Amino acid sequence: MTGAPLVLYNSLTRAAETFRPLDPANVRVYSCGPTVYNYAHVGNLRAYVFTDTLARTIRWKGWPLTHVVNITDVGHLTSDADAGDDKMEAAARAQGRDIWAIARHYTDAFKQNLADLNIVTPTHLPLATDHVAEMIEWGVRIADKHCYQLADGLYFDTSTVPDYGRLAGAADDAAHARIDAVAGKRHPQDFAIWRATPPGETRQMEWDSPWGRGAPGWHLECSVMSRKYLGAAFDIHTGGIDHREIHHPNEIAQNQAYCDCADTGATLWMHNNFLVDRTGKMSKSSGEFLTLARLVDRGFHPLAYRLMCLQAHYRSELEFSWENLAAAQVRLKRLVHAVERLRQQSARGAQIHSLDQFDLAISNDLNTPLALTHAEALASGRDFGADRLDALLKMDEVLGLDLSTITRATLRVRPADATIDANTIEARLTERREARAAKDFPRSDAIRDDLAAAGVEVMDGDPLGWDWKLTI
Ligand code: AMP
Ligand code: ZN
Repeated sequence: MTGAPLVLYNSLTRAAETFRPLDPANVRVYSCGPTVYNYAHVGNLRAYVFTDTLARTIRWKGWPLTHVVNITDVGHLTSDADAGDDKMEAAARAQGRDIWAIARHYTDAFKQNLADLNIVTPTHLPLATDHVAEMIEWGVRIADKHCYQLADGLYFDTSTVPDYGRLAGAADDAAHARIDAVAGKRHPQDFAIWRATPPGETRQMEWDSPWGRGAPGWHLECSVMSRKYLGAAFDIHTGGIDHREIHHPNEIAQNQAYCDCADTGATLWMHNNFLVDRTGKMSKSSGEFLTLARLVDRGFHPLAYRLMCLQAHYRSELEFSWENLAAAQVRLKRLVHAVERLRQQSARGAQIHSLDQFDLAISNDLNTPLALTHAEALASGRDFGADRLDALLKMDEVLGLDLSTITRATLRVRPADATIDANTIEARLTERREARAAKDFPRSDAIRDDLAAAGVEVMDGDPLGWDWKLTI
């Protein structure tokens, strides 16, 4: 390991802990993945910017990493507990489409989101539906001692494991008060291991099991896939803060039942806080919701969204607003501009301290807002040189802003409803420069007004060297 000790906040102990890998030759991380019944909203993507920052930090520290992000293509109900419809089945019915085609389409879209956000492709992206046989085996193993059968499936008795809900802590009761009652459940917290298809109903996705034809409960897939790909004991399990209350306590209970011991599976449980949108546009139930594609339509580069996430600590709530996003895009442009200028310099400058400061920030429970300011301080230093460029690009191994590749031209994203093209804008700006050179200011102003009417803001003397931007 290099640099400062890595300290991470563990939701299980509610304390910041120095991270010591179980096996320094292979750090193992599991992140709860998306439910692929629709596009990811930008809030979901905050969860993966967080896990990517964690993954990049582990590698920055010099540890090899195995990272698993599962794809939930079955079992997730409209409520995180056992109520409501299966999200996948409901989407297939509503769209009149084949459920497998829906799963494939949104899985591909999710992978494209990861690529657009410069998220390092996880080592494994396993599908839940590829592991149903293993989920049934798991159920068979724990059924006698830990489960009971009701007409609608096999349920886990949460009183059979030690310390159920330790992860959820004080929030426990509040979360479970929201769980809709299922007739016959022994405790409100009990959850489905297997849900039998009700008589007279057909599902597009169903399998035979000792508890009837049906589908696995959602929580089971993560226990099965994390153990399969990472082993019985692994380092870190991540998810959004909502998973701290129901999904992760249930995974822990299943793990304990399976090993017949008190082991929780992962040593560290980490949770990102939510991206919130006061306008209510983010929620998928609001109809039109905020996807990465919508941000691009409005003229924002996906990496501006990544930087916006880094502006907040992952355990703080982050408010989405177009102003925040615009501010993040300006910060990104500045960094890209600095890299472009640094490339043109050959002088060497001192940069010894900034990398250490950056390391200290990121090692302190992934303090990205502070790490970002160290990168910016380095970028805005006066005596540019190769060392600074090296250091900045080294920091970008953690920030993931792709500073070695993107250019200011890449960042000039065209809003979907813009009608004027870049060549026309450049031609008119040339005309305007000629008018100014000839001191024909009325003509110069007229051209600027024409451009403004077409949604182009002319930026004279912009410190970043941008002549114009689209304002639509
Ligand atoms: P889902 O596709 O619903 O299974 O969620 C995928 C991931 O996104 C999970 O880790 C959730 O906890 C997380 N998540 C959901 N909503 C938000 C949000 N608004 N902000 C941050 N993370 C979220
Ligand atoms: Zn999960």
